[in-house]
Amino acid sequence: MDKHKVPYKIYLEEVEMPKAWYNLRADMVNKPAPLLNPATLEPCTAEELEKVFCSELVKQELDDVNPYIEIPEEIRNFYRMYRPSPLVRAYCLEEKLKTPAKIYYKFEGNNTSGSHKLNSAIAQAYFAKEQGLKGVTTETGAGQWGTALSMACAYFGLDCKVYMVKVSYEQKPFRREVMRTYGADVTPSPSMDTEIGREINANYPGTTGSLGCAISEAVEKATSMADYKYVLGSVLNLVMLHQSVIGLEAKAAMDKYGIKPDIIIGSAGGGSNLGGLIAPFMGEKIKGKADYRIIAVEPESCPSFTRGKYAYDFCDTGHVAPLAKMCTLGSEFIPAANHAGGLRYHGMSATLSQLYVDGLLEAVSVPQTSVFEAAQEFARVEGILPAPESAHAIKAAMDEAIKCRETGEEKTILFGLTGTGYFDMVAYKKFNDKEMEDYAPSDEEIKKALEKLPVV
Ligand SMILES: *Cc1c(COP(=O)(O)O)cnc(C)c1O
Repeated sequence: MDKHKVPYKIYLEEVEMPKAWYNLRADMVNKPAPLLNPATLEPCTAEELEKVFCSELVKQELDDVNPYIEIPEEIRNFYRMYRPSPLVRAYCLEEKLKTPAKIYYKFEGNNTSGSHKLNSAIAQAYFAKEQGLKGVTTETGAGQWGTALSMACAYFGLDCKVYMVKVSYEQKPFRREVMRTYGADVTPSPSMDTEIGREINANYPGTTGSLGCAISEAVEKATSMADYKYVLGSVLNLVMLHQSVIGLEAKAAMDKYGIKPDIIIGSAGGGSNLGGLIAPFMGEKIKGKADYRIIAVEPESCPSFTRGKYAYDFCDTGHVAPLAKMCTLGSEFIPAANHAGGLRYHGMSATLSQLYVDGLLEAVSVPQTSVFEAAQEFARVEGILPAPESAHAIKAAMDEAIKCRETGEEKTILFGLTGTGYFDMVAYKKFNDKEMEDYAPSDEEIKKALEKLPVV
């Protein structure tokens, strides 16, 4: 029986871990559109980007030619402390669902930050250190990225300034304290610390902030101080590059047991975990070597793929960051108070957006109560308490497995379980108390935000 052939957890040996990141863009026929300078509307040059970002990271961001980029040894050594992450066969979930489908998940929550974000945080901190910088600035919404970056900066002895969206800062005090324990300086955004923060506070008194606003503050802070650069935890191509370790490990583990996924599923906020998970599979799909159905899952309240527009847009509220061509709801779109903070960004990775418009990637949006129902069911049989973001992928994977029960098809499903949800107990409480609501933006709301797209 299958049960005896495939272990519950497939771990790679250390020596089987990837030594290079895979840069999917090198193999894409239609390359993602370049970042534009918001003032000139010309493609950003390396020189312009280096005012904001670390030089080596800019090189990675602009590279759509080299398929493999070596992972420096120091980063590989750090990865060894918490990687390879397990690929788990969800036997118990399969049984519970009475599905003939085979379900696998790649679990990225086995580190203190509790998510996949550490894979890129450690790489970005390493390149900042190599450049001789004193520190970095960033924003964090739900707090996973800020936590991961704090850990990475502590490891390399860098200063770390985090602008945390005010509502999270207040609602997730324990996340904040984890960051401070790792030595980060955490400021609620909008703050009175930056020009943009002061302006936003004046224009919107009492505002609880947004990711777009925190990005503007972090960029302003980095560019106004010597020896600091800004780092970002999602959306950019370079982040997806680092996250390719997820997919490379998953593929190596599956190949080891002769398993081929039919469907690959991931939650999509800015697109980094999904982009990383699918990278080597999508590479094969593009080259015609294999076919996979690939599904991005987004919240119904922030549906960038399924209801957004593929267009150039601002990445931040203050319009200081470059313009990106992506599936977007408009930078002025404010999603309803969804509990998956990591999925509340208005835009999407340019790479994934291009794959989506090329028909290589599907997307679905799901209401949050159904996401928490899936999270609860998963937690009860598989033991892991998932992050609300990750539970979006669980929900879609369960839906596909249930379809298999109805059709009798023995499909193999792989999904990304990006993290744990211990800091999301306010959300779980709402769900348990049956006080959670669903919210889908109206066409009118989306139309209004899209009217503010820049004219390019
Ligand atoms: C940030 C985050 C996400 C979404 O971000 P992506 O860049 O789309 O991967 C998903 N899950 C968890 C646990 C996160 O922290």
